[in-house]
Amino acid sequence: MELKGKKVLVVGLGKSGLAAALFLRRQGAQVTVSDIRSAQSLGKDIPALIEQGIAVEAGGHGLLTFRRQDLIVVSPGVPLSTPELAQVAKFGLPIIGEVELAARFLKGNSIAITGSNGKTTTTSLCGAILENAGLPARVGGNIGLPVIGLVEDSREDDWSVLEVSSFQLETTESFRPNIAVILNITPDHLDRHGSFANYVAAKERIFAAQTPEDILILNADDDVASRAAARAPSQVFWFSRKRVIRQGAFVHEGVILFRASEQAAPEPILKLEEIPLKGVHNVENVLAAVCAARLAGAAPEAIRAAVAGFRAVEHRLEFVAEMNGVSYYNDSKATNVDAAIKAIEAFPGGVHLILGGKDKDSDYRQLRPLLAGRVKAVYTIGSAAEKISTHLEGAVHLVAAGTLDRAVSLAAAAAEQGDVVLLAPACASFDQFDNYEHRGQTFKSLVLARRGAAAWQNASA
Ligand code: ADP
Repeated sequence: MELKGKKVLVVGLGKSGLAAALFLRRQGAQVTVSDIRSAQSLGKDIPALIEQGIAVEAGGHGLLTFRRQDLIVVSPGVPLSTPELAQVAKFGLPIIGEVELAARFLKGNSIAITGSNGKTTTTSLCGAILENAGLPARVGGNIGLPVIGLVEDSREDDWSVLEVSSFQLETTESFRPNIAVILNITPDHLDRHGSFANYVAAKERIFAAQTPEDILILNADDDVASRAAARAPSQVFWFSRKRVIRQGAFVHEGVILFRASEQAAPEPILKLEEIPLKGVHNVENVLAAVCAARLAGAAPEAIRAAVAGFRAVEHRLEFVAEMNGVSYYNDSKATNVDAAIKAIEAFPGGVHLILGGKDKDSDYRQLRPLLAGRVKAVYTIGSAAEKISTHLEGAVHLVAAGTLDRAVSLAAAAAEQGDVVLLAPACASFDQFDNYEHRGQTFKSLVLARRGAAAWQNASA
C-alpha cells in the first residue's frame, strides 16, 4: 500500500488514532485528524500533531474535510454510523480501521484474540508464555501499544500477540492472523452494534481473511463462539473445560492437556492447581492461551512455568487485601453481566457484592439464580442502582449504598471472618468515575485506607 502523497483523514483522536496519524505522516501521507471533542479537551496532543505537519479539525466534523480524502482511517471509538462517514461511504471512499492499516504493514506472525470477556488476560498470558519460551513476542492492540505502534520495528520472525475488540474488527478487510482466538461471545456493546447478530458478525471478522494455512481456536463450551466453526476458512482447534477435545486443549482429571491432532497422543501441560488465577473463566483463558502458544511453537514446560508464574492483570479479579479474615477483590473490569457472573462463581459463598455504575441496557435478572447461597448482600451504587434493585428484588439482601465509598464501608462492617467483599459492578463506570481503572483504583485505595486505619487502631489499643 503506497501512502506517499495520499490524502488521509484519521477520525477520532484516541490512543490508536494518534498513533495512526503519526505513522501515516512518517509514511509521507498528507494527514488530517478530525475529532468531535473540542481543541481544549484534545489538549496536549494537538501541538505534537501540528509540529509533524498534521492538520487538526477539532470540535466537530466537516463534511468537506471527509470528502477531500483518498482514504479514511477510523478509530475504534467512532461508530460507522457517524453521518459524515456514512455520507462518504456512499461515494465509495475507502474507510478502514487502525488494525487494518497496521495489518497491511505488520511483518511476521500474529496471534489475535477476541471475545466478550477475557481478552486482556488471555493476551497478556499468551505474550508471557511466548516470551518464556524464547520466541520473539510483542503484545499490543487493545492493550499496551496500538497495533500500528508495533509495525515499524516488526521483523519476519516476530510473533505479535494482539488483543482485538469488536469495534476494531468491524473495520478490517485483509487482517489475517496466523492464529485467531474467539474466547466467548455474550451480549455486550449492543448499544453500539445495534443487534447481537451484528456484534457476532464483527467478532467473526477475526477469521474472515484467514486461509486453510491459518488456525482458528474456538471455545467448545460457548454455543455462539462454537457456531463460527461452520464459517471458518481455516483449520479449527478447540478448547474445553468440560470435555475431551480431538484437536486442541482440554482438562482431564485435573490436568490441562494439548492434542495436536486426532491421531496424536495428548500432551500434559500443567495441573489445574498450578493456575494462580481465580475462577473457572480463567481456566478457559489458560486453555485458550495454552492452545495458541503450543501451536506457535512454545514447549510444554515453558508454557507450564509461564502460567504458574502469571499474576492477575490489574482490575481483573485482583486480590487487594485481607483484613479481619475478610478478603477484598477488585474486578472493576467486570463491566458487563457475564463478567460479574464469572466473578461471583469464583467464590463458593460469603460474598458481599458491589454492583452498579452506568447501565448498558443490561438484564441483571441473569444474576438471580447465582445469588442464593453465594451472595450475602448486594450493595448498589451509581445510576443503575434502581434498575438493579428492581431486577434483584427478593433474590438477595439489597443495600442502597449510592457511592463506592459507602458500599465499601457498609460491606466491611457487615462482612464476617471468611467472607469476601467483591467489586464486580456489571456496569460501565462513567457515571461516577473517569473509567474502570479509576473505579478500581478508588476501590483499592478505600480498602487499603481501612487496612491502614485498622493497623493504627490495633497498634494504639
Ligand atoms: P477483556 O479484555 O475482554 O475485557 P479482561 O481479561 O480484561 O477481558 O477481563 C474482563 C472481565 O471479564 C474481568 O472482570 C474478568 O474477571 C472477566 N473475565 C475474564 N476472563 C473471562 C472469561 N473467559 N469469561 C468471562 N469473564 C471473564
